Amino acid sequence: MRAVTATHDLDLPPGVRPTPLALLMLGRAADARSERGVECPGDLPSPSDPNLVARARAAKEKLGDKVFILGHHYQRDEVIEFADVTGDSFKLAREAAARPDAPYIVFCGVHFMAESADILTSDDQQVILPDLAAGCSMADMATSEQVEECWDVLAEAGIADVTVPVSYMNSSADIKAFTGRNGGTICTSSNARRALDWAFEQGEKVLFLPDQHLGRNTAVLELGLSLDDCVLYNPHKPNGGLTVEQLRAAKMILWRGHCSVHGRFDVSSVEEVRERIPGVNVLVHPECRHEVVTAADHVGSTEYIINTLDAAEPGSAWAIGTELNLVRRVAAAHPDKQVVFLDKTVCFCSTMNRIDLPHLVWTLESLVEGTVVNRIRVDAETEKFAKVALDRMLALP
Ligand code: SF4
Repeated sequence: MRAVTATHDLDLPPGVRPTPLALLMLGRAADARSERGVECPGDLPSPSDPNLVARARAAKEKLGDKVFILGHHYQRDEVIEFADVTGDSFKLAREAAARPDAPYIVFCGVHFMAESADILTSDDQQVILPDLAAGCSMADMATSEQVEECWDVLAEAGIADVTVPVSYMNSSADIKAFTGRNGGTICTSSNARRALDWAFEQGEKVLFLPDQHLGRNTAVLELGLSLDDCVLYNPHKPNGGLTVEQLRAAKMILWRGHCSVHGRFDVSSVEEVRERIPGVNVLVHPECRHEVVTAADHVGSTEYIINTLDAAEPGSAWAIGTELNLVRRVAAAHPDKQVVFLDKTVCFCSTMNRIDLPHLVWTLESLVEGTVVNRIRVDAETEKFAKVALDRMLALP
């Protein structure tokens, strides 16, 4: 069964093109390439089963060293409890690659992370995503077709050969492969500055995918470019909504993508918390909007946020702008500091939260029975070029 594309009967303003919306069929064999995900197949245990924790423990114990469970920082506590290692997406993929003796890698995160783990692990290792519906809305904002079309637009403007693609780790394997094929590199929120420095040594311009905010924040706040050096490429408009002159004048061509979690924070949240907690330190992730990052006191990756709180003075106050599961865990780990969530409303990553204890139990018990469920596999050609881009990142100075 294939995804159906619907682009008709839409009432859109002039000049705006419809997004090729994938009408995903639910169930097995639906569009596994989409980060949007699909309904999880299989018979899940009931969430109200009081034995879920005991069942997860028993299954993990039976599997022993054969299974290695990775838990992203934004996962639920009930899942993190069973993780052999926690971290951001890149750290976890590297941890998986460093455990070649484990034939099963259970990735408690989202689809693009499991793809990266599959790319970096050996062919003998099987990477499993407990719920195929755990995708990433940001990664979905740049499809392979849209990015190839953008590259054609840059070629027609005569700038493709001086433009270096830099793609955030939070992108599909297809986008990573595009990046590798076209001389670019991957970056994380920790090394985005080094990646951009490298890219500007290779060419005159950067096409930054898919998170406009990380690209803009790094270019302006760390490289010293101006906001006018950046243009926003909108894949839903002809030529990205840009003129040839705008494309030729730009140094940073930012893809119009964002994180639906970090995009929620706004300047009023920063003002409100400063008023409520005098002396509070505002610490945000670089996926937040430029005006929020500018209004904050500190900006950095998930690992930076954790390390900053570890090193903070007892009694200090912190308002953190990132995913709520992580903020709650950081707050619980530092009872001697006041740690609050930056936003006024709840802000979980809904797709990350799809991985819960029933899915983990189902995955582990299936493995005990000898059945591998929800395996994530990147095809050989995509893997080859995605790895080129990932290896360039690993070689960054
Ligand atoms: S927090 Fe944002 S970038 Fe991370 S998985 Fe969720 S939607 Fe994607």
